[in-house]
Amino acid sequence: MKTFYIETFGCQMNFHDSEKVAGTLAALGYREVSRPEQADLVLYNTCSIRDKAEQKVFSRLREHRREGGNGKRFGVLGCVAQQEGERVFERAPHVSLVCGSASYGRLAELVARLEAGERRVTGLELDAESTFETPYTRRENPYRAYITIIEGCDKSCAYCVVPFTRGPERSRMSGAILEEARRLAGEGYTEIQLLGQNVTRYRDPSPAGWDFATLLGRVAEIEGIRRVRFMTSHPRDFVAEIVRAIDANERLCNHVHLPVQSGSTRVLRRMQRLYDREEYLERIAWIKAARRRIAITTDIIVGFPGETEQDFEETLRLLDEVEYDALFSFKYSPRPNTAALALDGQVPEEEKSRRLVILQEKQRSIQLRRNARLVGERQEVLVERYNPATGQWVGHSAENRTVNFTSPGGAADALGGRYVAVRITRAGPNSLVGEWRGEAEGR
Ligand code: SF4
Repeated sequence: MKTFYIETFGCQMNFHDSEKVAGTLAALGYREVSRPEQADLVLYNTCSIRDKAEQKVFSRLREHRREGGNGKRFGVLGCVAQQEGERVFERAPHVSLVCGSASYGRLAELVARLEAGERRVTGLELDAESTFETPYTRRENPYRAYITIIEGCDKSCAYCVVPFTRGPERSRMSGAILEEARRLAGEGYTEIQLLGQNVTRYRDPSPAGWDFATLLGRVAEIEGIRRVRFMTSHPRDFVAEIVRAIDANERLCNHVHLPVQSGSTRVLRRMQRLYDREEYLERIAWIKAARRRIAITTDIIVGFPGETEQDFEETLRLLDEVEYDALFSFKYSPRPNTAALALDGQVPEEEKSRRLVILQEKQRSIQLRRNARLVGERQEVLVERYNPATGQWVGHSAENRTVNFTSPGGAADALGGRYVAVRITRAGPNSLVGEWRGEAEGR
């Protein structure tokens, strides 16, 4: 039997793409193995959002450069494949397959051509029409399933390679999304995460013409689905109807990830983010005014070209004002084909690092404070696994906090996949600790 190995870098979209790729290969008769040395086909599903992620892929390829040939093949998928195209063959001559995410629909054909003896094949078209769907997707998590609802992006944020590597926006038909969600519910998945580079731009191309808030409500109505999440939103397209939908339906998780990137309007303009600080804060005010408590998380880039100390301080003040529940922060990394390359005022690396540390320390104390308020509360947790090293179960609350908890029988309680009530007893900056208090009430 032919074997494959796949390693994934980057965002949830990439991880879900890898689930689809793995399913496609399984349908072609390939078996997945856990080490590249054991595989006939070694694939790297890559991320080019930061230079470091890109370098990592080429270093992986270098590690295995002597293994090419004798029927063993290497492939580069995803954003670096799209960005570098045939240059990948020059940088790593033992690679035979280069395929960007917008061409995954052709993956089966490309692999068949490799098997037929072609030395090098590419899939680099930015298909503006179709989305990559497969009936074979092989999902990693047995309880939470990702469903892509929109691919690509039509924005042009000055630092971002995504419009170049993933192509223009394409929304999926609502009927196909609901059908997939119903099938997953039938297979026992109870949590659905709707995915897209910008889900808030979802526009149903079928005559129903649903917007994102309507789609959310309809997915949450499906029998057997207990939690619906979504990732990622763009503040420009984030509308009050989304908050109203969350307020109206307990099955919609009370968590919104709303990437701000900077707290300074001046920097936001240079980033071409299409909103200013006030407009962003207006959306935060909608979320905070909801009847349900809704967790808010964000992404921030420090050291964008031209970011002054004063701009950075505005970002720190934004943290105090919003009090995010979690934050993903990065140093600006110049990427090919992006508008920011032409901007003046590059911030030295040491200064970016200094700002990142200050930002993360501030956020750490905010998270500690926010999480401490939850001590004594009962939280509903979807249990994911048992950790024998700590003797605790691990799961996530609806607000997407990691919760570690003990149960009277430990591993023997077989809680995986169940929704349980946990009383929170301790709080750290990144997770909560608690005790099992029985089954959670059904919704
Ligand atoms: S919205 Fe901006 S940051 Fe997000 S994928 Fe599109 S271009 Fe990139």
